[in-house]
Formats: sequence, C-alpha cells, structure tokens
Amino acid sequence: MRSEIQEVLISAEQIGEKCRELGTTITNEYDGKFPLLIGVLKGALPFMADLTRAIDTHVEIDFMDVSSYGNKMRSSGEVKIVKDLDASVEGRDVLIIEDIIDSGLTLSYLVNLLRHRGANSVKIVTLLDKPEGRKVDIVPDLAGFTVPDEFVVGYGLDFAERYRNLPYIGILKPEVYQGS
Ligand code: 5GP
Ligand code: MG
Ligand code: MG
Repeated sequence: MRSEIQEVLISAEQIGEKCRELGTTITNEYDGKFPLLIGVLKGALPFMADLTRAIDTHVEIDFMDVSSYGNKMRSSGEVKIVKDLDASVEGRDVLIIEDIIDSGLTLSYLVNLLRHRGANSVKIVTLLDKPEGRKVDIVPDLAGFTVPDEFVVGYGLDFAERYRNLPYIGILKPEVYQGS
C-alpha cells in the first residue's frame, strides 16, 4: 500500500468479483441487442477493461472524454466534450460506463446529450456511487459499490492525474490534497 493512502476501501479482489457479477447482469439484459458501451475517459478505463471482458454477448465499444470546469476534486457541471464518439448513437441501446457518480452533473449532461442524439435507450453503470454528493436527481441503473462522501482514488480515479494505476480503491490522506 502506498504511503499516501490512508485506507483501502475496496480491494482488487472485491472489484474483480463485482465486475463478473455486473458482466453477467449486462449479458442477460443486452443479449442480442448489440449495445454501444461508452466509456468516459479517463477514469472509467480500468473498469471498462474488466467489465467488458465479463460480458458474454456482442457489444460495441466507444469512448468520450469530457472535461468539466471545476477544481481538482469536484466537477462544476459545465461540461466540455474533449473527445466525441466515433459511432452514431441513433437508435442504439447505449450503456454509459463511469468510474464514479458524485454530484451527477457530468452524467446528467451526457444522458441528455445522448437522448437528444436519438439513442433508443440510455443507461448507466458506475463502479462507485457517492449518493451524498448528489446535486441533481440521477440514479445509476447499475452500481458496483456505494462509497461515503470522501475523496477516493485508484482503479482509474485520480488526484492531479496520479493514483489511477492503483489496483484498489483507497482514501487519500488529507495532507496530500490539503491546500489544493
Ligand atoms: P460528478 O459530475 O458526478 O460530480 O463527478 C464526476 C467526476 O468527478 C468523476 O468522473 C470523477 O472524475 C470526479 N470525482 C467525483 N468524486 C470523486 C472522488 O471521490 N475521487 C476522484 N478521484 N474523483 C472524483
Ligand atoms: Mg468519470
Ligand atoms: Mg479526476
């Protein structure tokens, strides 16, 4: 465990187990529908890699990169598309893959955008859900773990672009981000 990590909240084994569980659920729900899975960069990358390999039906994979004008720890809800999809969502069953839902501002923007572009259905799977942070009314269709209102890192989640490569989800010691 890195010295900047105060506590491991969710172990690599727990994450692996959850990905297999969610993968089975998604397989059953989307079998024969050729869904478009949209990973939200960069945080969803490890989750997307593990989750998609646990899905046993045809899927198409695409990515979006959005940046929200906020500080390092919270999003503002003003979303800018940095990289758009390659695929058209028109008539598609879309499943957005996210690392965490906190305020919900990023996802509510994305869901509205994809509906507006004519998707047949838009659902959300998130590895982590932080319901106490919510500013808009949005509930993920599938969620791996509920986390407390603390800043977590690892398994895709960063602080100042670090810690994304940790295989577990942990809580950063407050002294690491104090003053930022
Ligand atoms: P929302 O728009 O729901 O507030 O936030 C979504 C984004 O904010 C996430 O995709 C993530 O990039 C960032 N975020 C929210 N909570 C956390 C957290 O606890 N840790 C980290 N590293 N990022 C977070
Ligand atoms: Mg994200
Ligand atoms: Mg971040």
